[in-house]
Amino acid sequence: MNDQNVIHTHQAGKYLVKVINDKCIGAASCVAIAPNVFKLNEENIAEIISQDDADDNKLLAAQSCPTSAVEVIDTTTGELVWPK
Ligand code: SF4
Repeated sequence: MNDQNVIHTHQAGKYLVKVINDKCIGAASCVAIAPNVFKLNEENIAEIISQDDADDNKLLAAQSCPTSAVEVIDTTTGELVWPK
């Protein structure tokens, strides 16, 4: 057993992303930019599969969404970072 190897616990950063299902039209640009975070489900709606990506990239993915269906929340302040 080598517990010392477990040093790189995934740091998800301070941004939390959410998909507003009603707004998602399945354009998949969020998936293209952040495939670790988003995937399309059977109904072609984006789902969050993890928060494991850099804050910048999560924000970029959110900003790429044509319908602003992705919200970005700063978990340190509770502030809505995107959409503005
Ligand atoms: S970019 Fe927006 S509309 Fe397209 S799949 Fe992602 S959340 Fe849905």
